[in-house]
Amino acid sequence: MRDSRHESPNPVEKLAPKAVVGRVSLYLRQLEAFRAQGQVTISSNQIGTALGINDAQVRKDLAFFGQFGHPGVGYRIDELLTALRRILGIDRDWPMALIGLGNLGRALLKYRGFGDRGFNIAALFDNDQTKVGMRFNDLVVHPLDDLPKVIADKNICLAILTVPAEAAQRVADQVVACGILGILNFAPMPLNLPPTVGVVAVDLSVQLEHLAYKVLNTQGGISYLGSTFRDEHDSLE
Ligand code: NAD
Repeated sequence: MRDSRHESPNPVEKLAPKAVVGRVSLYLRQLEAFRAQGQVTISSNQIGTALGINDAQVRKDLAFFGQFGHPGVGYRIDELLTALRRILGIDRDWPMALIGLGNLGRALLKYRGFGDRGFNIAALFDNDQTKVGMRFNDLVVHPLDDLPKVIADKNICLAILTVPAEAAQRVADQVVACGILGILNFAPMPLNLPPTVGVVAVDLSVQLEHLAYKVLNTQGGISYLGSTFRDEHDSLE
């Protein structure tokens, strides 16, 4: 039986633009930093200044999800943090399957930071018989034939794909057939999946191209003698 907390009644219609969701993640981290410094309330101007984002943009982004400010007070940090965590879906646990235990898959498995946000790699899969049965982080590597049982037993709803490009669509179809609702796809291959399945593609070469473009087009942003480099937060646009 799947956990209905992870199901959204109308996922497509309610989606905020990607750039807005990206900035909400930035606001969340910045609010956590302000709270750690003992601050209780905050204005859109303070959030914006800390992140290099226009305060009108901050208000507009937050207004997409509801009314959070209080007249004469601004935003109450704890209240806004709770709301943003709920909006981003990190107010709950997300057991995940990692599929493909090669260089990238094993590197991701070593990173402990996902768990802080409720993202826990709970099952491993690979089709290489020499890897099946191996243990990483106290998890055993399963063959793909085990997908239906393990996904159901562990109530897994997200999958990370770190398989070669030529295997990505086939593996994605297999996990979706098992009830997976979201895929983080590292393979450089667009996936063709039902609109009810959320897919986010990660391609660091796209980020590097963006970086190269910015470096070439940012006046004074870089010195080849090695001193200045401007960090901006507009890469989510
Ligand atoms: P790798 O060859 O080291 O690992 C791939 C793993 O997938 C292997 O363990 C292999 O046995 C397994 N595999 C192959 N077919 C499978 C299938 N049908 N079912 C289950 N497992 C299967 O490759 P890597 O260097 O770890 O890269 C993995 C993927 O990530 C590649 O698609 C690569 O292009 C991509 N990648 C993306 C980025 C990025 O920025 N997004 C960066 C590096 C690599």
